[in-house]
Amino acid sequence: MIDFDKERRLMVEEQLIPRGIRNPRVLDAMRKVQRHEFMPEALRLQAYGDHAMPIGEGQTISQPYIVALMTELLGLKGPERVLEIGTGSGYQAAVLAELCQKVYTVERVKTLADKARQNLDRLGYRNVAMKVFDGTYGWKDMAPFDAIIVTAASPSVPQPLVEQLKEGGVLVVPVGERMSQELLSIVKTSTGIRTERSIPCVFVPLIGNHGWKE
Ligand code: SAH
Repeated sequence: MIDFDKERRLMVEEQLIPRGIRNPRVLDAMRKVQRHEFMPEALRLQAYGDHAMPIGEGQTISQPYIVALMTELLGLKGPERVLEIGTGSGYQAAVLAELCQKVYTVERVKTLADKARQNLDRLGYRNVAMKVFDGTYGWKDMAPFDAIIVTAASPSVPQPLVEQLKEGGVLVVPVGERMSQELLSIVKTSTGIRTERSIPCVFVPLIGNHGWKE
């Protein structure tokens, strides 16, 4: 019987801390959320490896370090309402749910959203709302958000997401070419936006009206 708790502690000690993830709340959430529960049965033994994993429909769950880094960049303190675009397995949503008041997550593939919903319900996450939709439009009815995270790669920053962000809020999004991007951390200011560049990265494409065309 594999000791998943131990695997998670090792993931934090060996993958996250050495690469510079410092926020104690983020590290605690990464230690707590049962990543293997969001994986297809056959891949669970590899759940805490230092890599992305397939979750079906040609999509992936991001590498633990990327999940931790994007979460850290959001700078969550607890009372926030956060929008996620690209629910996938629901794992990132669960990490966010540990760190803020309410998560709104949007996924375009219904089979993935259904499975994510089951996973989140089974594990007791009650503060995650989900919708099947083209997330490049954001979630207008629930806007504005304190923070927004896009877990798929976009050719440019989707304008509706900037509009649905509160002033002072952060939008974390990988932007670039189809096969390689840069992680951007964008703060909405009173006069526009301030963009900070994080690391190079590779995400599956954000497909939709303000993303890549199918
Ligand atoms: N955050 C996920 C990983 C997401 S992979 C996790 O923790 O497992 C990227 C996801 O974005 C895929 O599931 C893909 O279907 C979805 N996606 C791509 N374009 C989208 C769009 N326009 N709106 C919503 N979801 C989208």
